[in-house]
Amino acid sequence: MKAVQYREAGGSPEVVEIPKPVPGPGEVLLKVTAAGVCHSDIAVMSWPADQIPFPLPLTLGHEGAGIVAELGAGVTGVEAGESVAVYGPWGCGRCTKCAAGKENYCLNAATEGIHPPGLGAPGAMAEYMVVDSARHLVPLKDLDPVRTVPLTDAGLTPYHAIKLSLPKLVPGSTAVVIGTGGLGHVGVQLLRAMTAARVIALDVTEEKLELAKRVGAQEAILSDENAPAKVRELTGGVGAEVVLDFVGAPPTTKIAGQCAAVEGDVTIVGLGGGTLGVGFGALPYEVSVTSPYWGSRDEMIEVFDLARDGAVDVHVETFSIDDAPAAYEKLHKGEIMGRAVILP
Ligand code: NAD
Ligand code: ZN
Repeated sequence: MKAVQYREAGGSPEVVEIPKPVPGPGEVLLKVTAAGVCHSDIAVMSWPADQIPFPLPLTLGHEGAGIVAELGAGVTGVEAGESVAVYGPWGCGRCTKCAAGKENYCLNAATEGIHPPGLGAPGAMAEYMVVDSARHLVPLKDLDPVRTVPLTDAGLTPYHAIKLSLPKLVPGSTAVVIGTGGLGHVGVQLLRAMTAARVIALDVTEEKLELAKRVGAQEAILSDENAPAKVRELTGGVGAEVVLDFVGAPPTTKIAGQCAAVEGDVTIVGLGGGTLGVGFGALPYEVSVTSPYWGSRDEMIEVFDLARDGAVDVHVETFSIDDAPAAYEKLHKGEIMGRAVILP
């Protein structure tokens, strides 16, 4: 079968021919219907060889959906032919975090060598993929796999981040979204669906700002050194109760801190290597800074329910599996509007 692989440190994604996998006991084989292209893959592919915590070659794709093709021995709870999406942050299933559905924070994943598909385990950018447990499958039912697959990360991650700050997103409050790409353009829609906050979006091109407005941001401004002053102006000097940074690079974490209101939340989701110092005087009083990772299993079901209600509509650009390397190239250049999705 065809697969998109990251084969050696410093290389580019390649389309290769590999054997079709066979599901072992407890595992489920999916015929992949759609796989999302996340900027985190580009971050991983920029790491030096000694910092990659899993062996290469790696089949990419941590946003996956498929049709159940074959059940390994002993699998119950899913049926062949079912359309499902994959919950990506796999855990051990036994620790207290996993018991609470928070497999993204599994206490044993690191020591037991458990990796998400596409980020250590073979991923969704292939004709078939193996999922380690039926526990990690959520039925799509009537949802379109292509438009829904990005919700497994580009939806789930902002959803989890927003949920952390819900008590602050009261009527009259402001949320700033920095970076309105894959995650950010869904984040804007989730903020509008889940809260009464006004949304101010920041990005670096007019095209991205237009997309942000089209999906619900009330204001969209260029992300430069003047942005914090504009946010202050738009909020009567108060600043934003919640700032979600979907870039996380040094210039944006700085902007994030400068936009925050007293008692605000700054949530750094992007992996851009930026940090934000805390300490008296570094930030407005009582600002909380956090950096969450992905989301929980129950939250993924909640995001799908929101999609079913029409509250989120992912802007998707589709590519064939042969064009997956080109999709990564476009994403790297900032030329994807919304999310790129590979159709194997
Ligand atoms: P993306 O490339 O689709 O979107 C990034 C957006 O940021 C683009 O629209 C780009 O124009 C914009 N941008 C770039 N520089 C900017 C700047 N200085 N100011 C404002 N906007 C700027 O990427 P994505 O797939 O949405 O991922 C976003 C980030 O989130 C990446 O760093 C990714 O690795 C990370 N991520 C984190 C988690 C997590 O669990 N914490 C999960 C998924 C992705
Ligand atoms: Zn991701």
